[in-house]
Amino acid sequence: MKRFENKVVLVTGGTRGIGQACAALFAREGAKVAICGRDAATATAAAGAMEGDVHGYGCDIGDVESVKSLIDGVIAELGTIEILVNNAGITRDGLLMRMKDTDWDDVLRTNLNSAFYTCRAAARSMLKNRYGRIINLTSVVGMHGQGGQTNYAAAKAGIIGFTKSYAQEVGSRNITVNAVAPGFIGTDMTADLGEKALETVLDRVPLKRAGTVEDVAEGVAFLASDAAAYITGEVLCIDGGLGM
Ligand code: NDP
Repeated sequence: MKRFENKVVLVTGGTRGIGQACAALFAREGAKVAICGRDAATATAAAGAMEGDVHGYGCDIGDVESVKSLIDGVIAELGTIEILVNNAGITRDGLLMRMKDTDWDDVLRTNLNSAFYTCRAAARSMLKNRYGRIINLTSVVGMHGQGGQTNYAAAKAGIIGFTKSYAQEVGSRNITVNAVAPGFIGTDMTADLGEKALETVLDRVPLKRAGTVEDVAEGVAFLASDAAAYITGEVLCIDGGLGM
């Protein structure tokens, strides 16, 4: 028996990076997996490229109506949602005094409002089943801050408060809500960092390397598994010790 045999999993933003690694792992371990990205064709292609039962949806995760359609679509096609990974995210870095309103709003709605929209829309199905595993992607930046990322840090810190609060609301229904806080992981999101800046960051990482998307996916899968049934409201740092 595989670890997630027949479980229905939704990974937001599973078209690439950490989300793609999470989706691929769940699918390899027997789950029916839904992923989404902003463009439906891209999401469908990404789903088709993965081994196992993976379905792609187009959705702007920061738009409430788009999320409602996503959740309705996944439930109509796969029957339910048992595991929800709120992974989709963006950065729009800049110093606060020069930050545009759109850079603030886009980061907040994509990284924080999205979790509210998905959790609320998926709640009925999870509460009815008296089962749910929710894993929200935060960041070490949400715990420690980072100059040039006030918008992103605010969203990711918000995710931690959201996680702990929602965990208290739904614990009695056998729904766990946890967060994963990656440090520096090699994906498109971090690809623009210059060589010198990368060296400086990695120098601060006790394990002396960037994390891989698989490092993060393993932590997400653990929190979604039966082995983590008594863990809720936690923040699991997967950062090579960066945030210590
Ligand atoms: P990537 O930039 O590699 O991937 C981002 C994913 O989010 C893509 O699949 C993208 O899909 C999706 N996405 C972005 N905006 C939207 C939107 N409006 N609607 C739907 N999907 C969207 O990011 P990572 O894999 O690096 O990051 C994943 C998560 O981990 C994020 O929440 C990030 O903040 C967090 N994190 C990452 C770290 C890192 O070092 N990489 C460190 C700490 C946290 P598409 O482009 O197809 O729309």
